[in-house]
Amino acid sequence: MPSRQQRLRVRRILLASSASIGYLLLCWLAFASGFMQLTVAGMLLLTFAVLASTAGFLALTWFNLNLRFHDPSLTLPQMSWAIGVIFISVYYADSLRALFLMMVLVVLMFGAFRLDLRGFVRIGLFTAGCYGVLMAALMLRGVAFDWRVEAIRTLAFFVLIGGVSMLGLEMSRLRDVLQERNRDLHVALERIQQLAITDELTGLYNRRFANEVLDQQKALADRGTYDFVLCLLDLDFFKHVNDAYGHHGGDAVLCQLAKILQRVVRDVDFVARMGGEEFLLILSNTNEAGALQAMERLRETLRTTQWEGFAHLRMTLSVGVSRYNGPEPWQTTMQRGDRALYQAKDSGRDRVVVL
Ligand code: GH3
Ligand code: MG
Ligand code: MG
Repeated sequence: MPSRQQRLRVRRILLASSASIGYLLLCWLAFASGFMQLTVAGMLLLTFAVLASTAGFLALTWFNLNLRFHDPSLTLPQMSWAIGVIFISVYYADSLRALFLMMVLVVLMFGAFRLDLRGFVRIGLFTAGCYGVLMAALMLRGVAFDWRVEAIRTLAFFVLIGGVSMLGLEMSRLRDVLQERNRDLHVALERIQQLAITDELTGLYNRRFANEVLDQQKALADRGTYDFVLCLLDLDFFKHVNDAYGHHGGDAVLCQLAKILQRVVRDVDFVARMGGEEFLLILSNTNEAGALQAMERLRETLRTTQWEGFAHLRMTLSVGVSRYNGPEPWQTTMQRGDRALYQAKDSGRDRVVVL
């Protein structure tokens, strides 16, 4: 199955092919009305050339062979081919020549979304070359020209080509601007999404995202053999830190604690700041015993932590541990954890209580 971008290219070729089919119908109508200097065999050849080239471009794109080219959308080859075919039919179109030539403008419009200035110059030069060859061929065939009419016709054709090309360039520029804006918007959106789930001070996840993770954890646990445990952490006497070192000092301690928490838990576990000096750990695939072990490890780490910028600071924390007891709502688990934390505070702090 082709990629999304390849499918878009196929869509564009199909769109262009519908214009080609319209053009073929016009040719056949002109032929039936006696305006085409072509035999039935010639008309069939023209029809075959148009349809076969469309099928060829479609096949190239469908089988990803176009990706080998510098411009995988094959804009210039498709446009040159279409313009070439138009000039061949114009050669036979007799008095409808000027009308048929207008079809070149349709081809140019198709290029508007893909070509840059260089592309437009190239296609412009190619068109001018085709025009010269056409005039030479018509002269060789002995077609009688009224040179004044022919000069005005040529001028009008190139004025139109120039106008459409400039319009196409402008559209192409607008497309580039739009793409750039889209990219900027995408980056901004990602940043906003990141900000919405991040705690500004510590860089940990925030309560909003913790709630989402809890929804997922519950869904996972309710499905099978998965287990998780919540640990609610609250620094003891944190107000004293603020009193002694100011709010800035308190902030620095919170940031250092965030790093410690991330270090102490496993990669699969989740850490969030729930607000103030309260943190939540979601320990996955474990039970109360495992959580107790992890929390004792954390308390031990805190005992030996040298807080950067605070020579003699000693911090402890109280922890409420509660295992998810499915299929209860996780809010119930959280309330149990809260009660456990409250008990830990009540019974002297610097301890872990499981409920
Ligand atoms: P306890 O052992 O009972 O938990 O005592 P505590 O002083 O830690 O408890 P309490 O919840 O009464 O006080 C928490 C303090 O945390 C109060 C508030 O000023 C401070 N705090 C909350 N958020 C922030 C923050 O973002 N930065 C700083 N520096 N302090 C904060
Ligand atoms: Mg608190
Ligand atoms: Mg506290």
